[in-house]
Amino acid sequence: MSSKIIEKYFRDDKLPHIWCPGCGHGIIMKSITDAIDELGYNKDDVCIVSGIGCSSRAPGYMDFNTLHTTHGRALAFATGVKMANPNLKVIVISGDGDCAAIGGNHLIHAARRNIDITTVVFNNNIYGMTGGQYSPTTPTGDRGTTAPYGNIDRNFDLCNLAKAAGSTYVARSTAYHANMIKKQVKAGIENKGFSFVEAVSVCPTYYGRKNKKGNAVEMMKYLKEGTVNVKAAEKLPKEKVEGKTLIGEFYKNPEPEYTEEYQKIIDRY
Ligand code: SF4
Ligand code: MG
Repeated sequence: MSSKIIEKYFRDDKLPHIWCPGCGHGIIMKSITDAIDELGYNKDDVCIVSGIGCSSRAPGYMDFNTLHTTHGRALAFATGVKMANPNLKVIVISGDGDCAAIGGNHLIHAARRNIDITTVVFNNNIYGMTGGQYSPTTPTGDRGTTAPYGNIDRNFDLCNLAKAAGSTYVARSTAYHANMIKKQVKAGIENKGFSFVEAVSVCPTYYGRKNKKGNAVEMMKYLKEGTVNVKAAEKLPKEKVEGKTLIGEFYKNPEPEYTEEYQKIIDRY
C-alpha cells in the first residue's frame, strides 16, 4: 500500500490491523479506499458503517466518518444516517453472517426500498471472528465448528438474494480481483440507489483449515481459477462454467431512490 494512501485514508494509530496473516479482508478494504480516492470524494462526505465480525473491523482502520455498530444492524444504522443526511455517501461493510443471517431482514428491506447505500459484503463463507461456525454462505457439505460432519443447509447466492429483494446494482468480485472490486464499488457508489457488491474473501484460519483448502496462496489461486466472468460465461460451453463462481456485474437498473421520494413528501406537505 502506498504511504500516501495510508496517510490520507487510514488511522495509522490503529494499524497494524489484527486480521490473520493471509486473510483477504485487507485487500477488499484497500479496494474500497481506492474507489473513494478515484471518485475524488472528500473524506467528510463519506460515512462507512459496519456491524460485527472480522470484516466489520475495517471501518476502525479507515479515516472517514465511521460507525462500528451491533451484529447484523449496520444497514439499520446506515439507513438512519442516510435519512438524516442524504448528501453523505454511505457505505456498509458487512460479512456473510452479519449481512445474511442476523442482518438478513435489514438487507432485504434496504434493497426493497432502494435507499442510496452501497453495501460491500466480505464473504469468507464462515463466521471468522466468533470461531468458525458455518454461515448462510457456507457451501452445502462444507464444514464449520458447528457443522463438524458437513453442513446440510443450502447456501445463499447473495447476489441473487440482493437482486430479488430489489437492489438496483448487483455485482460480485473476489479478493484476487482487487481491481474489479474497486470498479464495482465505484459503480455502486455512483448508482443512485441500493447497491450490493459481494467480494469473496479468503479465511485461511477457519474456512480454509476446516475444509482443507490449503494455505492463503492456494485459496487465492482457487479464487482465480474457480471463477469466471459472467460475460465470458455466456459464450463458453457449459462444461467450462459448471462448478465455477460467476463474477462481474449482474444487474444495473435505476429505480426511484428512497431519500428522494421521502423528500418529495416533505416538499408536498
Ligand atoms: Fe480473516 Fe478468517 Fe482470520 Fe477473520 S478469522 S481475520 S476472516 S483469516
Ligand atoms: Mg464471514
